[in-house]
Amino acid sequence: MSGLEGLARAYPFCPRCRAAMSFRFEGGRTRPACPECGFVQYLNPAPGAGVIVRRGDQVCLVQRKFPPKVGQWTLPTGFMEWDEDIDETAVREAKEETGLDVRLTGVFAVHNGILPPDQPVVVVFYTAEETGGELTAGDDAAEAGFFDLDRLPGPIAFAAHRKVLRALGAVDLERHPEE
Ligand SMILES: [Zn+2]
Repeated sequence: MSGLEGLARAYPFCPRCRAAMSFRFEGGRTRPACPECGFVQYLNPAPGAGVIVRRGDQVCLVQRKFPPKVGQWTLPTGFMEWDEDIDETAVREAKEETGLDVRLTGVFAVHNGILPPDQPVVVVFYTAEETGGELTAGDDAAEAGFFDLDRLPGPIAFAAHRKVLRALGAVDLERHPEE
């Protein structure tokens, strides 16, 4: 990536003073900027957290209810809210998507990727153990369940999630389409 792809997201008008935006070289690259008030639009990846919850050899996955990748499966994952710590994101997303209360036990991996069509993301994948709650698909999930690593449902959405599942020992993910 050259960094210029993000310029498709450039504001046409300044969100502060409404002047027409232009571009300026700032902090090592060309960025959308307002010639009137000096506002610079920094385009950054969005951070999120994913959770690996195991029951023996099984791992918890949720089926996506909303685009992109409707009907495909992922680890419970979501974006960080403005005022959260990243570990709070992980615990909240586990609860929202699976109904389970979890305690985080470590950071398993950090991967970046692209959420289609063009949103760069960074996802911190935590290991976690159940402390309570009841397995049930939350608002964002069509289904939630525990699955054997050698018999996962498919397709698994997102390269980062497939990478984590392979690292856990999942096999036969090759049939799933890459994005
Ligand atoms: Zn402005």
